[in-house]
Amino acid sequence: MRIANLSGRLVIVTGGPGAETAYDVEKNSNGRFGSRPQAVYDEWEAFTSWAATADLAGGTAVDPVELGSPAPEPRQVLAIGLNYRDHAAESGFDAPSGEPPVFTKFPSCITGPRATIALPPGGHVDWEVELVAVIGRRAYRVTADEALSYVAGYTVGQDISERILQMAAHPPQFGMGKSLPGFGPVGPWLVTLDELDDPNDLELGCAVNGEQMQHSRTSDLIFSVPALVARLSATLPLLPGDVIFTGTPAGVGLSREPQRWLAPGDVLTSTVQGIGEMRHAFAAAKDGAP
Ligand code: ZN
Repeated sequence: MRIANLSGRLVIVTGGPGAETAYDVEKNSNGRFGSRPQAVYDEWEAFTSWAATADLAGGTAVDPVELGSPAPEPRQVLAIGLNYRDHAAESGFDAPSGEPPVFTKFPSCITGPRATIALPPGGHVDWEVELVAVIGRRAYRVTADEALSYVAGYTVGQDISERILQMAAHPPQFGMGKSLPGFGPVGPWLVTLDELDDPNDLELGCAVNGEQMQHSRTSDLIFSVPALVARLSATLPLLPGDVIFTGTPAGVGLSREPQRWLAPGDVLTSTVQGIGEMRHAFAAAKDGAP
């Protein structure tokens, strides 16, 4: 199953690429489930049970421009650094062995899969395509073996990063440099794991103006999604609808020779196999405000 946020309403999506149809959940469930996309994760088990046999009607064509984040208002947004060996190496670090480096993106940075993102004046804004996991039920001290049963599904994310702000303090302030408005695009929809041929081996990548910048597979993750859910939930409860950015592979602008940053007019496309594509334009912020 795929669920999406279409003009702020929760929908179930069917159909192939470019021909997707959306079914409004509130209308099809006669109000049993509400219209707010974020609220569905609080009733994920009941929702998936209903959706498995629902006779959907009143479908409308999906206009990608109307899509928002499938998890637009998470209570917690966790992110993992250096979770691919090639990205750790290009960043000048040893690959983490004992514990994954964890940071947060503040939830106000979340945006949808088709937004225009404002570039702060003088900033060095960089891309980081990532597989994103969304939590489907409260997970606290769960094992890796059972971890995926706490995941509602996967989607595509961009951990957009302003490197000057990120490195402006010592130690670096990841949460600030990665939380500007629009710096947490997620979408185009959430895909449940049963829809994926192998949820542990998904090709992912991103391109700037059609030029490929990153290309890898999630089988190269140092800490897999089950391992991350187990380790994160060992410390804090993961809540329904929480968003986990699982880390980015090599090819970020920071590590290029010469370094490369997003500029006004650039278009960033981000894909994960079996899930879909996000497409973002970048524009100069006016007077420093997005
Ligand atoms: Zn990242």
